[in-house]
Amino acid sequence: MKSKLEKLSPEFQKILQSASSLANSSGCKIFLVGGIVRDLLLGGGVFDLDIAVEGDAIAFASRLAGRLRSSYAKHHAFGTATVYFKNHKIDFATARTEIYSHWGVLPKVRPAELCEDLKRRDFTINAMAIGLNQGDYGKVIDFYAGLSDLNKGLLRVLHQESFLEDPTRILRGVRFKERFSFKFEPCTQELLKQASSKEVLNLVSPHRLRDELICILKEPDPFKCLKSLNRLKSLYFIDKKVFLDKQAAVLFKRINSAAAWYDRTFKNHRKLDKVTIYLAAILIILSQRKIESLLSKFGFKKGERIIVTSIKKGVGLLSQIDKKKEPYRIYEYLKDYSFEAILFFYAYSRGKHLRKNIEYFFKTLACISTDTKGRDLKDMSLAPSALYGRALQSLLKAKIKKGLNGKEQELKEVEKIFKRLYKKHMPCGGNNPRV
Ligand code: ATP
Repeated sequence: MKSKLEKLSPEFQKILQSASSLANSSGCKIFLVGGIVRDLLLGGGVFDLDIAVEGDAIAFASRLAGRLRSSYAKHHAFGTATVYFKNHKIDFATARTEIYSHWGVLPKVRPAELCEDLKRRDFTINAMAIGLNQGDYGKVIDFYAGLSDLNKGLLRVLHQESFLEDPTRILRGVRFKERFSFKFEPCTQELLKQASSKEVLNLVSPHRLRDELICILKEPDPFKCLKSLNRLKSLYFIDKKVFLDKQAAVLFKRINSAAAWYDRTFKNHRKLDKVTIYLAAILIILSQRKIESLLSKFGFKKGERIIVTSIKKGVGLLSQIDKKKEPYRIYEYLKDYSFEAILFFYAYSRGKHLRKNIEYFFKTLACISTDTKGRDLKDMSLAPSALYGRALQSLLKAKIKKGLNGKEQELKEVEKIFKRLYKKHMPCGGNNPRV
């Protein structure tokens, strides 16, 4: 296993070796735990480290940050801390056991040894650790036969009540199953079906469900996970009316190819937030009011709410843009939509003109702006400055309509525009708009 740790970046190795020597000198035991152990064993990439400390994790992290001369943040409420080192993030948590008073609610925790800490985890493949103390540095610790399940491609819960205790494990399980193309071990599969039929996800707080839904939508192929949940009749956690039919499958496919086209073609545009596009695809069958109330119940961010609701409103109006249009009209129609919404329309509609107009928008209009700014108007001694906003807006329109090229052409045009505006808005000011 030592060789696996050696595959980590030099920064991570430095952190681990420093942590290891600190653990030994302070007489506490530390372990790499959770998904990172799984990913290392699978040979995948590692981005963040999770370390369990048998002892006070916050005190340990603060001393390590001192040694590494790096910053750290503590979260007293959770007994955890994060050390930041050269763009790397390492989370420390006190090894703990969890006591559930009710299904679905967060458990009470108390410090414990590693074996207990691993027992509270969701699946055996996520319940392995790697020793970091000198002496067992790099050694895989596998109390629950996670390695054997990993080799067989099986997801197995650690005890019978796992899905009831924390129903988000249903969503996590489906996510890992699809990500790794694993199977649920037969008994786990049965427990999963039973828990799903009890609709236990309704016991979980909407914010935790939202976080899990976002994780699903960030997977390379979220539709696979959603289809799996659909088969388990578990999409009710979003809304009873949410289901995925053939049409939804086609929409997801079209979104994927549209997004791939966008990424390939517009490398200089900003990256799309695909989560909101997929979210809109799931919710599009619901009414506008229902969508708004769900987005607020789950506590999606304002920006995400605006995008999804604008998509729902926009799809009803798409015939307006599915016509031959002048470039400026295309710009006017689309300029206030987010790129996510526009890409959704592109995937959603088969309208020939609409798709052409959107392609033109992304290629030519999406990032258009004037080279002329307010200070240029000031340098030209144009006044009053209250007209600058309108003048620049009209200049942009002229730039699109007439295809103005370069700042010189723009400055000539804006001077004419300013004169016109001046006449119109300052009728008593004479003909000279200069100060
Ligand atoms: P990903 O690669 O998607 O980040 P991960 O396994 O690293 O997967 P995290 O959410 O970062 O997922 O969780 C880290 C570890 O914490 C998990 O591997 C698992 O051991 C444990 N864990 C997380 N959520 C739960 C849960 N709901 N129930 C039990 N254990 C959990």
